[in-house]
Amino acid sequence: MRATLFLLVAGAVAALLLTRAEPFAPRVVLDPPVEVIGRATPLHLVVRDRGTGLARVEVRLIGADGTAAAVATETYPRRSWFGSGVHEAVLDPIVDAGAARVPEGRATLEVRAVDHSWLGFLHRGPRLVRSVAVDSTPPTLELASQQHRVRVGGSECAVYRVGPDAVAHGVQVGRDFYPGTAGLFADGALRAALFAVAEDLPDAQPAIVATDAAGNRRQVAMGAVVQRRRFAEKTLVLAPDFLARKVPELLAANALEANGDLVAGYLRINRDLRAATEARVRTLCRESAPVRLWEGAFLRMPRSAPLSGFADRRTYVYDGKTIDHQTHLGFDLASTRGDVVPAGNTGRVVFAGPLGIYGNAVVLDHGLGLFSLYGHLSTIDVATGANVRRGDPIGRTGDTGLAGGDHLHFSVMIRGVHVDPTEWWDAHWIHDHVEARLDAFPRAGGGS
Ligand SMILES: [Zn+2]
Repeated sequence: MRATLFLLVAGAVAALLLTRAEPFAPRVVLDPPVEVIGRATPLHLVVRDRGTGLARVEVRLIGADGTAAAVATETYPRRSWFGSGVHEAVLDPIVDAGAARVPEGRATLEVRAVDHSWLGFLHRGPRLVRSVAVDSTPPTLELASQQHRVRVGGSECAVYRVGPDAVAHGVQVGRDFYPGTAGLFADGALRAALFAVAEDLPDAQPAIVATDAAGNRRQVAMGAVVQRRRFAEKTLVLAPDFLARKVPELLAANALEANGDLVAGYLRINRDLRAATEARVRTLCRESAPVRLWEGAFLRMPRSAPLSGFADRRTYVYDGKTIDHQTHLGFDLASTRGDVVPAGNTGRVVFAGPLGIYGNAVVLDHGLGLFSLYGHLSTIDVATGANVRRGDPIGRTGDTGLAGGDHLHFSVMIRGVHVDPTEWWDAHWIHDHVEARLDAFPRAGGGS
């Protein structure tokens, strides 16, 4: 009888200790490791705990002068007898050493983590300690080129000087970032960036920016004159036979569902496939040669007439009703059926094949983030990776993709953002806005 009672009590005590007084301390992993903490340093922490689960995680930064600040805190309340039940937590704080008032120099990063165990007091100390450097000073940054004038939908070029600790730098225009290129000039601190004010960002003010490894960011306003403009408004009346011919073909070619009527299918192409195509264009234009490959003005397809200009605002009408609005990002040039399409300038083929609404398309890289696109081709006569010279034939015009008839869709892009090609067809514009700016500074390698 007594023995049974003893066993019951002993069992209850054991259960209590196992569930509420477990000895397992939380473990903390900081991955990737961090050596420098600045004004916006991301940390990635994984905290694990066996038994009762996590109660509290605190990230502290302690300066050499003794200044200590909690830079991130997370709590996990008890949810049941067994604790919080949080056995793994991922924390991604962005640490700001400046806001924490920790001075520059050596410092210590500590992660404290406690669980809900009664034995938690046994491991109150930090679960992770790292020696770090605090650097709250962003890279130096100074604009070297002057008097920037850019039209909405147009291009420009900036030359600037940046400190050696910058890991990212370029021109920020609203949501768009145009990285700069190093290695062009005798002065190793100089960088050049082609940039655009996208046709849908009339209020954007370009600024040069530079960021270091600790996330310290400096931004310098360019004082650029941004010239607003009105884009043409066009109405496109869609014919039933056009939809019947194009919609099933384009849905199938781009693995889109064919449910609904022709108008529903057309809208899926005009909206979703158009957006997906532009996302692919941006990806294709991410890597560019770090040198100028183009030479002088771009070539416009000879003997061609423009069917539409850059950034036309299009209203789509079917059966007397407005069914959609889209912006046309490029020039449509009509010539004779199957006419030869010349490369607009010297560059490298980064894409040759089917490209969403553009049908059979070629994309050329002209260096420093400048690209051109040739859409709706009936044949493609170049392969990805090939080098082409200005005027080389790259294919023939056609009506592949979302095209009502045989024509060339021609686009110029900076880092995938469509810009008005008329500027790049104009030798004076290129000289004044790009080449004179680049040539104002001695080139790398002793040239001028
Ligand atoms: Zn077009």
